[in-house]
Amino acid sequence: MARTKITRYAISMLFVLLTAFAIDSAKSLHFLSSRNQEQACQFDDCHKYLHWDLGIVGIETLKLRPNDVLGQLLSNRGVEYFKINQLIEAAKSIFPFRSIRAGKDLTIVSDLADSSIQALVYEPDPYRQILFHLDDSVRVEVINKDVEVRTETAGGVINQSLWVSMSDLGLPMELIASMENALGWSVDFYHVQKGDAFQLIYERKYVDGQPLGIQKLVGARYTSGNTVYNSILYKGSDYEGYFDLEGRPMKKAFLKSPVEYARISSGFNMTRFHPILKRVKAHLGTDYAAPCGTPIRAVADGRITAASYTSGNGNFVKIKHDKTYDTQYLHMSRFGPGIHPGVLVKQGQTIGYIGQTGLATGCHVCFRFWKNGKQVNPINEKMPPPAAMDLNQLPGYLEYSKGIKEMLDKVIISIPAEHPVDEVPDESLPNS
Ligand SMILES: [Zn+2]
Repeated sequence: MARTKITRYAISMLFVLLTAFAIDSAKSLHFLSSRNQEQACQFDDCHKYLHWDLGIVGIETLKLRPNDVLGQLLSNRGVEYFKINQLIEAAKSIFPFRSIRAGKDLTIVSDLADSSIQALVYEPDPYRQILFHLDDSVRVEVINKDVEVRTETAGGVINQSLWVSMSDLGLPMELIASMENALGWSVDFYHVQKGDAFQLIYERKYVDGQPLGIQKLVGARYTSGNTVYNSILYKGSDYEGYFDLEGRPMKKAFLKSPVEYARISSGFNMTRFHPILKRVKAHLGTDYAAPCGTPIRAVADGRITAASYTSGNGNFVKIKHDKTYDTQYLHMSRFGPGIHPGVLVKQGQTIGYIGQTGLATGCHVCFRFWKNGKQVNPINEKMPPPAAMDLNQLPGYLEYSKGIKEMLDKVIISIPAEHPVDEVPDESLPNS
């Protein structure tokens, strides 16, 4: 009899243990079927917590304050020290605690039955989710979210500025930089004409249905009066970049100016009255004024032939581009990193910084353009055209660009909303 009782007791104990084990397994069972998840989740941001069965765990999200210490936070909520230390160790090589930033959300996933913490969820950026597991197996897991790339189009008319038109259409400002890459060689976006129109095809990244950055600008068209510029992004076996509809690169061999966003303070002039020498002296360069310290860029690929100082030029750099053209940049405050005679530089590379060394009245760069050893005005120069795409590559490009052009043709140009018209003057007021 006693033996039977003991056996029965043992069996029921075993049953309890097995049940407990089963519950434990269920707790750490991730990725349940989507039907269950939808039924269980009652939060706006359920997509974040689909790893757990929300019938078993509770979700609490808190905003991290500047002095929150994760270890302390866990300890306050009853997590044992040895587990906290295990987690800190596990996190070290994957996502250290110190990388967690104040002001961001931290989600605590806890067991509904005993409120023990099962995991922490932290999203350092929209692309990743870091899971700090505190259930039976303490570990850190990085989940890279699925990035969906959608092709979108936009078209608008410029009323005030490109910026205003883009923001009126709710377009990301990133697209402006992309447009500069695609069309900046042909269109001066800082001096656009009212009524100019743009049509764009671009790829945008989405995560959890939220729009994020621009992946790439696939094609762009800019219409100013009767002039239409098309720019199509293409990657072939030998070519990569933006091309026009005939397969010529949009990128030119020479940049328009050696400084971004500068104003011309003194043009090329054969009979200029010199402000310091107080006499007529030809100005064989173009002065671009910008704050001292502004980077000066090489207008084309070439080799540095001088990086030195004279009392008139101040610190200056001279670059040989080919057998015909040289450019020279005067009055620098200092040279760019690694700029020495003999060094090869790329177009756009910083070769120095705006200064006022030598004979200069303010912060500017005097840009000099040499053709066959004589200084000329670059505005009058018919610059060498960029090398055209090889004939054997051209058919592939034309085939591709035809499709993009047809897409551009269909991009609807939104007309900007009219700004409210002033009310008709009240007739009862006397005319003055
Ligand atoms: Zn000058």
